Amino acid sequence: MEFISIKLSKKFILIALISVLFLTMGIFLPSIISCKSEQVDAEKLKKSTEDKYEIRRIEMVETQIAARDISDKNVIETMLKVPRHLYVDETQWDYAYEDRPLPIGMGQTISQPYIVALMTESLELKDDEKVLEIGTGSGYQAAVLAEIVKEVYTVEIIPSLYEKAKTRLSAYPNVKTSRHDGYYGWEEYAPFDKIIVTAAPDHIPQPLISQLKDGGIMVIPVGPPGWSQILYKVIKQGEDIKTIEITGVIFVPLTREEGNSS
Ligand code: SAH
Repeated sequence: MEFISIKLSKKFILIALISVLFLTMGIFLPSIISCKSEQVDAEKLKKSTEDKYEIRRIEMVETQIAARDISDKNVIETMLKVPRHLYVDETQWDYAYEDRPLPIGMGQTISQPYIVALMTESLELKDDEKVLEIGTGSGYQAAVLAEIVKEVYTVEIIPSLYEKAKTRLSAYPNVKTSRHDGYYGWEEYAPFDKIIVTAAPDHIPQPLISQLKDGGIMVIPVGPPGWSQILYKVIKQGEDIKTIEITGVIFVPLTREEGNSS
């Protein structure tokens, strides 16, 4: 009798253990599986979002850049590569590849893709060059430059835009950012091979001409706020400053830090 009871209880313990095991699996297994499948779903969603914007990027380059007069291979390849949507707020992602400028907050805009391409091509960039950008804005133009040249220095006057762009551009070790009035360029790192200005002053700032290397090129919109600005290519040849008109443009004005109005 005792023997049977021991046998029974051993069997009972074994059954109990197996039941507990199954019960635990029943509780945890589905959540492990669902956790994994949520991860897989999130990865799938991310991939399909990336794919969607990659397709739009290809269309943007084909229809707005290559189909117009941009032929610089470096510029075309870079604009295919840099994810423009990640330089604007998520609410703007679906418009990021359209043929127009987009709001980036504080009354400022990220330039139309074609204008970014035109300005970049006009700089005639070489990979070992040092470029200064005035008007970091979203950071997109700086990212495009950073893909092509060795060093990029970019200056923004509005603190909140500066902070956001600094974070975005931290992926590029060859980009240095600063928050100050870019009318004065960035003396500490001058001279620069090339300078690009992405906000319009009403005259070409003398400090920018001074900080341009001999033989250097500056691309800059000049004119009053509104419709009648001209995009210029400025070439410095010793004392001689050659100014070539590229096209008519509309840029936000180059604003000045209070107290500075030269
Ligand atoms: N290149 C930017 C677009 C620039 S919009 C991009 O790719 O997104 C023009 C920017 O110039 C704005 O962010 C504006 O705040 C900035 N800006 C205007 N005046 C400036 C100044 N004096 N110094 C530096 N940045 C200035």
